[in-house]
Amino acid sequence: MVKPLPKRFNPDLLERDGASFEVTFAQNNLKRLEAAILTAENDVRCTAVFSRRKRHVHVRGSFQTVVKMQCQRCLKPMDVEIDEPYELVFVEDEDAAEALPDQFDPVILDENGDMGVYDLFEDEIILHVPAIPKHLDGDLCHVAKTEFGELPKEVSEDKPNPFEALKDLQLK
Ligand SMILES: [Zn+2]
Repeated sequence: MVKPLPKRFNPDLLERDGASFEVTFAQNNLKRLEAAILTAENDVRCTAVFSRRKRHVHVRGSFQTVVKMQCQRCLKPMDVEIDEPYELVFVEDEDAAEALPDQFDPVILDENGDMGVYDLFEDEIILHVPAIPKHLDGDLCHVAKTEFGELPKEVSEDKPNPFEALKDLQLK
C-alpha cells in the first residue's frame, strides 16, 4: 500500500509503518534546482521505502521529473527526463555522516529528528541534471548542420539536393 509522504516527517517513526510512500511536488520548491534549469515548471514525483539497518534508517526509491534546459548546441529549450533510483541514510549530525561507510549517502536530520521532503531530494535531483544538455535527436538541433559546413536551408533551397533521391529510396 502506498501512502502520501508528508512534506515534513520523522523517519524513525515512519519506518515502523513498513509502507511505501509517494510524494509529488512542484520543481519551484527546490530553489537551487530552479537556479540550475531554464524554468521550473514541472512536478517531481518520488517514491520512498524506509527500513532500519543497524543504527540508521535508510530510505530508497526513485524520483522522476522533466527539467527544462537550454540545449548547449542549438541554444533552444529542451526537455531532459530524469528517472533515477536513490538510497539515502538519515543521520543525526555531521559526525555521524562522516562515520558512515563510503557507499552510503547521508542526509542530516534537524534537531528534532525530522526531515523535509525538499531537503531530502534537492541534492539528489541536482546531481542528475546534465551539466551540458544537448538534443539527442539531430532534427531538433538545426544549428548542427551549419556547424558542419553545409549552407543554411534558405540559401540552398533552389539547388538540387543530392540526397533527395536517396531519401525517396529509404522511404519505400
Ligand atoms: Zn539542440
